[in-house]
Amino acid sequence: MKNVEVGAGPMDGGLRRLHGRNACLKGKIVVAGPCSVESESQITEAALELSKIGISLLRGGIWKPRTRPGSFQGIGKVGLPWLKAAGKIANVPVACEIAHPAHVDACLEHGIDVLWIGARTTVNPFSVQALADRLRGVDLPVMVKNPINPDIELWIGAIERLRLAGITKIVAVHRGFSTERKSIYRNDPIWRIPIELRRRMPEIPFLCDPSHMAGSSELIKTLAQEAMDHLYDGLMIEVHPHPENALSDGAQQITPAQLRSLMASLKTKKENTRAEEYLSHIDALRKEIDGLDRQLLDGLSRRMEIVRDISRQKERYGVSFFQPRRWRTIVEDRTRYGVAKKLDPDFVLRLFEGIHEEALRWQEQAIEAPPPESAARPKRRPKTG
Ligand code: PEP
Ligand code: MN
Repeated sequence: MKNVEVGAGPMDGGLRRLHGRNACLKGKIVVAGPCSVESESQITEAALELSKIGISLLRGGIWKPRTRPGSFQGIGKVGLPWLKAAGKIANVPVACEIAHPAHVDACLEHGIDVLWIGARTTVNPFSVQALADRLRGVDLPVMVKNPINPDIELWIGAIERLRLAGITKIVAVHRGFSTERKSIYRNDPIWRIPIELRRRMPEIPFLCDPSHMAGSSELIKTLAQEAMDHLYDGLMIEVHPHPENALSDGAQQITPAQLRSLMASLKTKKENTRAEEYLSHIDALRKEIDGLDRQLLDGLSRRMEIVRDISRQKERYGVSFFQPRRWRTIVEDRTRYGVAKKLDPDFVLRLFEGIHEEALRWQEQAIEAPPPESAARPKRRPKTG
């Protein structure tokens, strides 16, 4: 089925107006607050401390999507007036997670200012659609976290469902992905996915949530700085007055004092500068890169042509396209060569996995469709359901 056309609309995310309020990271949106609202005193204490720092938006989870039953599932609706009152203390709007239309109703009833869809909900189109249907006609900013799994289409799909329901104030939040890859982080950032989402939806403000990415408080700073280097519009950070007593995500929450020093340590970056020396230098280097990229593509194109010729020989002699031994040799040889050239072995492997996958596709198509006309080859089936 053809994808539905979704118009862009006025997508300022509704959070831009909050910039001026925040004193701790100029020009950026800073969403801070505990993972969960736990008690009236806890959220009030957090708000009092955060009001001295100057944030853009106070967060607090009311319904918590916990992996296992038996752990703290959130304080529930009773916490909404505490959260709202805490926002008044800190003189900022408040935000909480919604996963169900009943959550939307409760938030509207209690004047919650901003809503967010969590990673465990973005993965489920039924849930997102139910939220979008309930949000029709509601003029609140909605933040959409990336889905748990590294699937950009689910993230885009969730944003499109909200847009089609008439929501114009949408913000994307990158919180990392659950993968099998070895990583020091709880959720692998996989920066290429948000980079691609931003390429496809440049009008959407983009926040980074280094807390859920890191999983532990001491790793947050590196990720927050990386987000600044990636020109994110702001950060969402879990801050608890006493992280050691937190009922959820204790290891990754920082204290208000730690937030203050984190914000002071971050270096915000700009996309460009008018400095003449920089511009002429960068221009020459970019020209060199442009030339190298063309060489790469020329080489890849020639490589695929050779693969196609090989596939005809294989077909003629009943030899399999996939050659486990040859593939092992290629990986070993290219990795050794790449490492000698100071390239990361994981990167070399990923690169050749992509090339190999494409080469197999060329081989299959070479025998399905007679030569040549690469342009006429049908595209790979899109990975959307
Ligand atoms: C949260 O923000 O507390 C939360 C549950 O986040 P995520 O959906 O990113 O896991
Ligand atoms: Mn959390």
